[in-house]
Amino acid sequence: MIFCRHCGKEIHEQASSCPQCGGVQPPFVSATAIPGEGDSLWMAITSLVLSIVFTLTLLEDAEHDKDALIGMGVFLIASLALGVISLAGKKAGKGMAIAGVVLSSFSLLALLGSL
Ligand SMILES: [Zn+2]
Repeated sequence: MIFCRHCGKEIHEQASSCPQCGGVQPPFVSATAIPGEGDSLWMAITSLVLSIVFTLTLLEDAEHDKDALIGMGVFLIASLALGVISLAGKKAGKGMAIAGVVLSSFSLLALLGSL
């Protein structure tokens, strides 16, 4: 429920005008249309997990062939993007999103350096 801009009565959120006073309501942007806390948190967690996995893989002494490095690069970019999207959205999981972005960037640079 939202409140009428004109009389303050509680009205349905999708009502285009107020049944109480007839006042026209501004277009209502549904909260569910924007990525919610859950989505943001999910992206932050995915970003963090992916970046940790690939950072650890990169830090191993094992030699990685070029195909494997390119594959990791793709996932790291995805992880970086998820972290950035998560940060641009709501505050849920912000710390994890920042860690994901930092780790992904670090790994990506290390990866580029080893190509
Ligand atoms: Zn009204």
